Amino acid sequence: MTRNPFPHNDAMPALFLSHGAPTLVFDDCPARDFLGNIARALPRPRAIVVMSAHFEAETPLVGGARDPETIHDFRGFPDALYRLHYPAKGDPDLADDIVGRLRDGGFEAAIDAERGMDHGIWNPLMLAYPDADIPIVPLSIAPEASPAHHFGIGRALAPLRADGVLLVGSGSITHNLGRFAKADYSLTSAAEPFVVEFTDWIAERAVAGDAKTLLEGPEAWPLGREHHPADDHILPFFFALGAGGRAQRLHASVNFGILSMDAYAFR
Ligand code: ZN
Repeated sequence: MTRNPFPHNDAMPALFLSHGAPTLVFDDCPARDFLGNIARALPRPRAIVVMSAHFEAETPLVGGARDPETIHDFRGFPDALYRLHYPAKGDPDLADDIVGRLRDGGFEAAIDAERGMDHGIWNPLMLAYPDADIPIVPLSIAPEASPAHHFGIGRALAPLRADGVLLVGSGSITHNLGRFAKADYSLTSAAEPFVVEFTDWIAERAVAGDAKTLLEGPEAWPLGREHHPADDHILPFFFALGAGGRAQRLHASVNFGILSMDAYAFR
C-alpha cells in the first residue's frame, strides 16, 4: 500500500510528472508502478489541466475540444502503441475560464478548439486514471519563453486547485535524447551518476523552496545544459512550481540510464 502523501489536505496539489518514453505504458518499471498508484493518493479531481512539453505555441493555447483525440505524436514505435486511445472528454467551459484567467494575468491566451491529447498527456494519465472518466484540458508550452513565463502561467491558474482542478506539468527532469541515441542503454540500465547528481540537486533546491535558483533555468544550473540541451521538457516543471507551493519529491527513478522519471507535488 502506497503511503498517502496528502493525509490532511483536501486541496489539490499541482504535480510535475516525467512522462518518459512513449512506451511507458508497456514498460515494466518503477515509474509505471508509481503512476498506476498516484490517484489513490490524491483527492479525486473534477478536471485535469495538463501543460505538455509536446504542445508548443508562442502564446498560451488552451485545448477546448469536447472530445479531444488521442495523438500518436511519435514514430518508429511498436504498432500496439498506435492502437491505444484515451477516451477522456474535454471541458470547454473550463478551457474558456482558463483563457480568461490567463488574459487577466497579462497572457495572450486563446482557445485551440481542435487540439487533442499528445503522449505527454495520455501516457501518464492512462496509467493514473485508466477509466478516462475525468475531463482533460491541454495547455501549451512556449519553447522560447522563460521559466518565469511558465511560472506565471502556473500562478495565474493556481486558484483552480481549490476548485478541484488538478494542474499537471508533464515533461522530464532530464531530457538529452542526443546522448540517448548515441549510447546503448536499455530500460533497466543503471542510472548514470551524473543523472543522479543532477536530479538530487533539483530535489534539494525544490524542497528548500529555492524558486529563485530554479527559475534561473538549465542555462544556470550545474549540469543543466547536459540534461536539457533545449528547455522544452523542463518548462512544465516551472508551471507546476508556479501553480503550487511547498515541493515534495513524490518519486525518483531512472529509465534507460539517463531518463529520469522524477515526479513532484507542490502544495
Ligand atoms: Zn516527451
